Amino acid sequence: MNAPAGSRRLRVDPVACDGRGLCAELLHELIELDEWGFPIISDQPVPPDLELLAQRAVSACPVLALSLVSVPADTRPGPARGGGGAPVAAPDPRLPRQAVRLRP
Ligand code: SF4
Repeated sequence: MNAPAGSRRLRVDPVACDGRGLCAELLHELIELDEWGFPIISDQPVPPDLELLAQRAVSACPVLALSLVSVPADTRPGPARGGGGAPVAAPDPRLPRQAVRLRP
């Protein structure tokens, strides 16, 4: 049985990956390439409208380095739990990730 839409994310095996970037060509919405051509995978669950493309990218990986894995229910984005605070919007996976600066 398949997992519900929006409950899976992509994962790459960095040892198996050969860094040719086929997956990023097929699914640029969730996969970008680093300066050496290795994929940087969005840490967001695959949106329902990209599920088929994600499955296609997994199937097309020539070394089986790309996979779809289930996201534990308590880590999925959604309304804030407890505390009654405002819901936090999920970051747009198409935007570059920003480094977190820690204060000394
Ligand atoms: S298609 Fe597979 S081998 Fe190629 S860059 Fe993507 S994960 Fe790596």
